[in-house]
Amino acid sequence: MTAVPEAAVFDVLAIAAHRDDVEQTCGGTLLKMAERRRRTSILDLTQGEMGTRGTVEQRASEAGEAARILKVSCRQALDIPDGRVENTYDNRIKIARVIRQLRPRVLILPYWKARHPDHATASVLGDEAAFLAGLAKLDLGAPAHRPFKIIYASLYADVRPSFVVDISGQFDARFAALMAYRSQYQDQQQGSNLFPRETEIRERIAAMAGFYGLLAGVRYAEPFVQKEVGLVDDLLAIPVQSI
Ligand SMILES: [Zn+2]
Repeated sequence: MTAVPEAAVFDVLAIAAHRDDVEQTCGGTLLKMAERRRRTSILDLTQGEMGTRGTVEQRASEAGEAARILKVSCRQALDIPDGRVENTYDNRIKIARVIRQLRPRVLILPYWKARHPDHATASVLGDEAAFLAGLAKLDLGAPAHRPFKIIYASLYADVRPSFVVDISGQFDARFAALMAYRSQYQDQQQGSNLFPRETEIRERIAAMAGFYGLLAGVRYAEPFVQKEVGLVDDLLAIPVQSI
């Protein structure tokens, strides 16, 4: 994993339960921000020891490769048990420490309703950890910090997004980042033809990104929910055509 520079200040931190979650839900957005010289980072809460395929070591090296493709400056993984992501004080503190260390302005969390309990819990955990990280009297060895903005990656949630990010220019790289998880996405049998499986996954990913793109009149997009209302300064600068 990439090392964390001393007194690092990051623009964006994406937190997710499992390695490869971020690649699926907001990888294109992270890459787009990095291409705009924003400093991006990822925190995976678990190390993937419950996965049917691949070892923890394999997943760690795959996550590093995916981070390189997405131009992420720093990627870390906590040791919260895979399949047992729980909203405990200990786990909140572990995440709060990372938030203080990286000092992100924007925090990306999973949407709070999800089929996988780890995803739903990761959302609430991230929220509460961000709050704790901002408590000045809580001594965690680094100055208090609270992200200015929290947004929720909602790709797999059946919910209308507050906004989408155009990732038409980042789609191919995001797909390559997902495919870096060879232990997860490639057929395991020696000599089997890898191509059809990859084509099928690409079709599925493109269908999702295409659907959210269509909502905003672009080719591919990633959806997000924010709890706050949008604030507009200039009516003439509001994007997305109505009719
Ligand atoms: Zn996951």
